Amino acid sequence: MIPGCANKGGGGSVVRLDAVPELESQVSLSPMAAAALECWQARQGEIFTVVDPELSFYRARLGAFDAVGGVLLPFHRFNRPVESPVAIEVYQALPQKERFELVLQKLTEIGVTRIVPYTSSHSTTPEERDAGQKKSHRWPEVILRAARQCRRAMLPELSPVLDWDGAIYEASHADLKLMLFEGEAQLTLREALKGVNANRIALLVGPEGGFTDDEVADARKLDFLPVSLGPRILRTESAAIIGAALLQYELGDLG
Ligand code: SAH
Repeated sequence: MIPGCANKGGGGSVVRLDAVPELESQVSLSPMAAAALECWQARQGEIFTVVDPELSFYRARLGAFDAVGGVLLPFHRFNRPVESPVAIEVYQALPQKERFELVLQKLTEIGVTRIVPYTSSHSTTPEERDAGQKKSHRWPEVILRAARQCRRAMLPELSPVLDWDGAIYEASHADLKLMLFEGEAQLTLREALKGVNANRIALLVGPEGGFTDDEVADARKLDFLPVSLGPRILRTESAAIIGAALLQYELGDLG
């Protein structure tokens, strides 16, 4: 979990077994695995996705369990990893109200690692932003429900809302930094990904009002590559969902 993380997502939410389990045999949980299950608000009898030291993933039912330990019964072994080989971080200009909840849900299903909401010159007005913030207590819950439903092994990290400078600074450590830009004469996402081998990708999605010229210049200075998703102007939440899905399709595990 990063400092200031707004949910209990990230590596700390992965339930790791200490040894390769036998199916239908109980295994005891380490204190770390029990702490990871706390991130999922786990209860006895519920089923979770867990990982062994060889990075095989399992569905496992939780038996008796408390803060320091418990038991799990793995009953199904996945024949491929459940988490993506690429870490995709989506920087999303805060859209109005519940549209951000849709973004959180869909990005969780698509398998992103981190979601960073930010405000910028043309994002929601202060009033709308406040309305969004009041509901922000629901955001971790939206991610949790989506992650459980789609059987993820990790909860995506949710960052607190950052300002523009904070967001592009946070994104700047990624191996590949893409800025979704609706202007003409851009590289397409497909062109930008040709021959690329990146482990950590930042996808910057602009607000409904678009990026300002200054913001585009700031991002270029930090080596963001402006890329297009085609000739139609998408709503900010559509751009985030489509952009993340295409990245996962080209470089990750979707498809
Ligand atoms: N206000 C702008 C549109 C902004 S769309 C206008 O009317 O011209 C909101 C955000 O979605 C953009 O900042 C961009 O990040 C992304 N986006 C929308 N359509 C896109 C496209 N065709 N290609 C790349 N990014 C797009």
